[in-house]
Amino acid sequence: MRILVVEDEPTLRAQLQQAIAAAGHTVEGAADGRQAHYLGDVEDFDAVVLDLGLPMLDGLSVLRRWRASGRTMPVLILTARGSWQEKVEGMDAGADDYLAKPFHMEELLARLRALLRRRGEHASAEWRCGPIWLDTRAARVLVDGQPLVLTSHEFKLLSLLMQRKGEVLSRTELSEHIYAQDSDRDSNTIEVFVARLRKKLPEGCIETVRGLGYRLVDTGASP
Ligand code: CA
Repeated sequence: MRILVVEDEPTLRAQLQQAIAAAGHTVEGAADGRQAHYLGDVEDFDAVVLDLGLPMLDGLSVLRRWRASGRTMPVLILTARGSWQEKVEGMDAGADDYLAKPFHMEELLARLRALLRRRGEHASAEWRCGPIWLDTRAARVLVDGQPLVLTSHEFKLLSLLMQRKGEVLSRTELSEHIYAQDSDRDSNTIEVFVARLRKKLPEGCIETVRGLGYRLVDTGASP
């Protein structure tokens, strides 16, 4: 696999590149946001490790620009703090997973493996529920034929709800689907994502089943 490592601190960047190369991948490094944005935009990577605090252009802006131009490679962000607000901000920008500094290299490698595995398992499929149509390969959602803009985490949540339409999914199941690692599963964050997704969808699509979780229902309107 081909991995891009974006980190401005030379020692850490070298350690990351060395560890990821030792895991059998091809690695490219970038030391600032502008270079990172360019590489991620013009070259194909299977995954990116992206530090958020970068010179020239910050990591969140880099990520937003990639996603805005349709780049869908999995991105693991390195955050300075572990606050859930920062995680939410990173995910809104399109990150697939996050790791707070300082971290153990073994954990980073495990998360990278999980991201690459999930990408490989991501089968093409289309799902429909009333007025909502979702295409997993194109990462596209239409409501009544109109494109709906979702963050990557809102998209993952909606994909799972649509695949299991009518079933009640617990917060635990939803967070397992979104996060690679046990340590960061956080039901408060799931509530934030469900609330946001609900605002974007036709009213009544996502039902709360008290004490159990959430369920996607067909509201009857047809496409
Ligand atoms: Ca930095």
